[in-house]
Amino acid sequence: MHVDWQWDHERFRIFMHGERIGLFLPLGGNGLSRVMTTDMNGGSDNDAEQLRLETLQQAFSEAAQVPVTLSNARWLSKFSTHHRIVDRYRSGHIFVAGDAAHIHSPAGGQGMNTGLQDAANLVWKIKNVLHHHAAAPLLDSYEYERLPVARETLAFTDKIFHLAAGQKGWRASFRDRIAPLLIGPASRLHSVQERAFRKFGQLDIRYAQGSYISDISESDSPAQPGDRAPDAQITRHQDLFDLLAGYRFTLMLLSRKPLEPQHAESYLKRLSSVRASLAQTLLLAPMTTGSHAAVISPTCNDVFTHYGLHDDSSQAVLLIRPDGFIAWRSNDDNLTAADAWLTRFFAAPV
Ligand SMILES: Cc1cc2nc3c(=O)[nH]c(=O)nc-3n(C[C@H](O)[C@H](O)[C@H](O)COP(=O)(O)OP(=O)(O)OC[C@H]3O[C@@H](n4cnc5c(N)ncnc54)[C@H](O)[C@@H]3O)c2cc1C
Repeated sequence: MHVDWQWDHERFRIFMHGERIGLFLPLGGNGLSRVMTTDMNGGSDNDAEQLRLETLQQAFSEAAQVPVTLSNARWLSKFSTHHRIVDRYRSGHIFVAGDAAHIHSPAGGQGMNTGLQDAANLVWKIKNVLHHHAAAPLLDSYEYERLPVARETLAFTDKIFHLAAGQKGWRASFRDRIAPLLIGPASRLHSVQERAFRKFGQLDIRYAQGSYISDISESDSPAQPGDRAPDAQITRHQDLFDLLAGYRFTLMLLSRKPLEPQHAESYLKRLSSVRASLAQTLLLAPMTTGSHAAVISPTCNDVFTHYGLHDDSSQAVLLIRPDGFIAWRSNDDNLTAADAWLTRFFAAPV
């Protein structure tokens, strides 16, 4: 809809006033924005009465505490928040994912991302069991990896919703006075922004150690088994995610130690013996002299820093799953152990 008011149309804004929470979300460029308000005394999902623009305008002005005129609405809708979760993600041949498995308030915008990650976690497992006859317990790992994430998401969104919208009477007035004093300055701190970004972006999910996630030896270091493999800059024009794209296994040898050409050849030969049909292989390392067509030489240290290779002689081998999570890591050049780990996901050689 069009929003006519004293503020700009560039920035996301959230308003709290009494029992009203208002959100203004710019949609960019086309002069349209999205507006939302809470109605703590609202009807149910079965409430057949259509939302009227005048009702929304009044409720939103109340939340924003400034005069607002809404017009040209393209879409008006009421929805109720729910808070439900399944106790199992799998029953025999039936798997549940997305809102069918977990549904919660939209506070924090977590629902779609959680559902997409459910699907990303599950589909390669089904494929490997069907095509490569991977052991059936691989499918069980879907539930034990994803159910805790869904539980945590419900608890988190519930907390935010109750803090923001679930207050009435003096608690709501208290929140209206205190929240701007605390949230405004805190949200400008880089460390708070960084943590909030990782939390809301679901980048800090760590799957627990199990049959398909190896032991985490250095839990404080970045890029450990169970973590989502972080992106990093390789050259001015290339990021690690460019190389990891494609929803497949990646076996990556990272060497901060510059490689002599004969060492690079030897690593490439060992990497090529890894079953190429099961995983793509990458060798990232600076060269002592010249360059090698099959070796990716980073032009900055970003990738080494993001993967915890801090000293100039450090090396690591990582096995990254198709859903982008690290399954296995060693802090040396142990490609044989990596290959052994890879075979866990594939019962029959192909
Ligand atoms: C107001 C609001 C704001 C939100 N904002 C965000 C946000 O900012 N970020 C975020 O990540 N998430 C957000 N979400 C949550 C997000 O929209 C959902 O989590 C996501 O759409 C769920 O996707 P899904 O595919 O699991 O389910 P759905 O999108 O519900 O898809 C299920 C589909 O199955 C169909 N279907 C149902 N029964 C049958 C049947 N028997 N046969 C055939 N088809 C059937 C339905 O018609 C539907 O098309 C928001 C939700 C709301 C309500």
